Amino acid sequence: MFGSSYQISTISALPPPTEAARIMRKAGYIPLEPYVNSKSHWKSTHKECGRTVSPAFANIASGTGGCKWCGVSGLDYSAPSYLYIVSHQEFGSLKVGISNDATDKKIEIASTDLRDIY
Ligand SMILES: [Zn+2]
Repeated sequence: MFGSSYQISTISALPPPTEAARIMRKAGYIPLEPYVNSKSHWKSTHKECGRTVSPAFANIASGTGGCKWCGVSGLDYSAPSYLYIVSHQEFGSLKVGISNDATDKKIEIASTDLRDIY
């Protein structure tokens, strides 16, 4: 029929993908693939260090954090610590952190191109 139109609507129970992506960006992560759900690993780039990580959106939304390289949850505040600076030229980012974990991967990447680390 002439003049008729179709309406397309999307119903979504969980945060719409655009809203989820906005929250991710606000938390410092750039999504690299479409949002699936809050429990799925969401491949993203962590802006602070430039690494590709796959945090669950639920962790980002709750403020737990999503980058295993930048997390400081294991820091022992009473132990001797070291300060580190990691730069990533391609992303133009600098990461300054503090740690006292001798097995911390950040020590290894301090003098190496981040793109070569897995
Ligand atoms: Zn990071």
